[in-house]
Amino acid sequence: MSTVLKINNVTKTYNKKLKALDKINLQIKKGEIFALLGPNGAGKSTLINSICGIVNFDSGSITINDLDIIQNYRETRKVVGIVPQELYLEAFETVWNNVNYSRGLYGKSSNHVYIEKLLKELSLWEKKDNKLRELSGGMKRRVLIAKALSHEPKILFLDEPTSSLDKNIENQIIEKLFRIKDLTIIVVSHNK
Ligand code: ADP
Ligand code: MG
Repeated sequence: MSTVLKINNVTKTYNKKLKALDKINLQIKKGEIFALLGPNGAGKSTLINSICGIVNFDSGSITINDLDIIQNYRETRKVVGIVPQELYLEAFETVWNNVNYSRGLYGKSSNHVYIEKLLKELSLWEKKDNKLRELSGGMKRRVLIAKALSHEPKILFLDEPTSSLDKNIENQIIEKLFRIKDLTIIVVSHNK
């Protein structure tokens, strides 16, 4: 199996004193399902946000499919999808518009058939015309998963995805995600 993600000596310091990442090295292969575990404050979100270009790391390098993520920002950003830890959504927008808009952000042409299938798989289809503020916490989390998959990424990051999902739905969703062909999944969780 080929390596899709390489993290070489990545270091990140916040406010010149808080070392959140200290020379992190990691390699992840295509199709792998990888669990990144650690206590609160260990630097898990900092690491995956660095990979997704949301956090600027200080030194070291990260490559996706052998492309450096800083030099090839646009190409590599398209390959990743992230379900963030925080539930941050546009409250007054509908589920349908929101997920379709996310796809457009990555420069992908619209594909209503794909988005319909995605929303059905995530049991969100009957909520497609609802505004996001009308959804429960678990439904909002599923909208975030739909957004993260809207542009058909090859690597999916789930940052503490289970915090607002009940066990039943969590298992159903994780099972569906695991069945997506060639998708590399990195699940982040705190130690329980
Ligand atoms: P985890 O996701 O493993 O709980 P984080 O990556 O969120 O950990 O945080 C790692 C450390 O970096 C923590 O001490 C946290 O307070 C600090 N940190 C995270 N984000 C910021 C930020 N934007 N500014 C300053 N410090 C931060
Ligand atoms: Mg975190």
